[in-house]
Amino acid sequence: MSDSPLHRRPPAPSHLIEAHLEFFRELGVNGIRMDPVWRERTAEIDQDEIIPVYTSQREALAAIREDLGPCTRCKLHTLGRRQIVFGVGNPNADLMFVGEAPGADEDVQGEPFVGRAGQLLTKIIEAIGMKREDVYIANVIKCRPPGNRNPEPDEVEQCEPFLFRQIDTIKPKVIVALGKFAAQCLLRTSDPITRLRGREYKYRDAILMPTYHPAYLLRTPSAKREVWEDMKRVKALLSER
Ligand code: URA
Repeated sequence: MSDSPLHRRPPAPSHLIEAHLEFFRELGVNGIRMDPVWRERTAEIDQDEIIPVYTSQREALAAIREDLGPCTRCKLHTLGRRQIVFGVGNPNADLMFVGEAPGADEDVQGEPFVGRAGQLLTKIIEAIGMKREDVYIANVIKCRPPGNRNPEPDEVEQCEPFLFRQIDTIKPKVIVALGKFAAQCLLRTSDPITRLRGREYKYRDAILMPTYHPAYLLRTPSAKREVWEDMKRVKALLSER
């Protein structure tokens, strides 16, 4: 047999161990502990400090939906809501619409803005050359209040952190707050919608524009002109930034 290093007989096991120990000594390891002390650590880990990294916005939104779970955080789960209406659309959208709360149609279909007001919203989106699938649509609260009453403060308080997480995940350039309730809620103000609309607000890395709710436009078609002005500005902001 050749005497080349490749063909030498392997050392006996004790030599092998000796060789390993020598190798570790060279690396600077000067002892090993046999007790599994590291497994017995008692220090508490703050779970909030462990921030998962998601590979896509879609995945991050799915995690928010999962955290929401079947949701019994507020009383709406006992007041006849059929399902949670999480939000719909492009997880990478530059443009996001935020309404008030699901209505009867949304409660049945599990998707925001699918009733008459929703059909008008789809037309408004198309009027600026976009498709409904290009944008993201959500509401301040995710469950239908009974009789379509306004959401109550405790309901908003429990639910809006999930909307904030959606906004911070999607990172839209422009957020359109649809109607008085959404605008007042997001901007933490009681100013009337007539004062809020027509202005732009810096909001969580986006520009927020309040405008009239499509349900209001169904009752007051003359207000469509102002919404059209707002949407032209939205379009300009989207191409600017
Ligand atoms: N009105 C809203 O504010 N949101 C909906 O999803 C439907 C109607």
